[in-house]
Amino acid sequence: MKEFFKVLYTKSAKDYCIKLSKYLDNRTRKFIVTANPETFMMAKTDEVMRDILLDSDNDIIPDGIAVVKSAGFYGNKPVERITGVDTAATLLELLNNKKKTLYLFGSKREVLDALVEKINREYPCIKILGAVDGYVEDKDAVFEKIVEASPDVCLVALGIPEQEKLIAKHIGKVQKGIYMGVGGTFDVMSGKKRRAPKLFIKLNLEWLYRLMREPKRIKRFWNNNVKFVFEAFVDRKK
Ligand code: UDP
Repeated sequence: MKEFFKVLYTKSAKDYCIKLSKYLDNRTRKFIVTANPETFMMAKTDEVMRDILLDSDNDIIPDGIAVVKSAGFYGNKPVERITGVDTAATLLELLNNKKKTLYLFGSKREVLDALVEKINREYPCIKILGAVDGYVEDKDAVFEKIVEASPDVCLVALGIPEQEKLIAKHIGKVQKGIYMGVGGTFDVMSGKKRRAPKLFIKLNLEWLYRLMREPKRIKRFWNNNVKFVFEAFVDRKK
């Protein structure tokens, strides 16, 4: 696990925003991976996820509080969390200011429709090149279309690890664009699901709010988050 902590982006969210702005200005091709306990736990046994995390071309941002805190054991502690939800919002702001293009792939049709409407209303200078829900048969075919459209930003909401693996498989074919797997972010951004109240976020208890709202996540939480913290603690001396 040690090797994964070393690749984390450790500067502030503000610094990262400047970096994103430069990527857009320079038409850089970039894959952003949101690191949370699940990402690291998967990468331990899944070669593809491991390669994605260790590819120095990719940005690995510290999405989960457990990742931020545990990184302290390894002497590479990020100054703060940089979440996928906040990064997606930052990207929309930047795209709007720079009048650039966006592609959305993933989540349910009704979520996507609500999100497209919201973006058109609140970010009128963004040109949406496509919005495809995540329940289509052939997801590779959707990516072929994305490659052809060549958006400045492509957000993929299919859940981990499918979204990361699809991006990794196809990103080599594009010349430019920021690609990020965003999990359940569209559900929150569209207003269909609530993000945790500010106090929970401030107290680093967003995970608790999510568990309270969706108790069926408890098994997933135990297998990833609880085991992750334990392993990160034990592994630190190895
Ligand atoms: N999803 C999808 N197609 C699928 C499976 C999932 O588009 O075949 C979407 C789902 O609708 C949700 C997102 O992927 O919007 C995954 O959300 P989840 O909350 O599980 O992701 P997390 O944020 O926990 O990674």
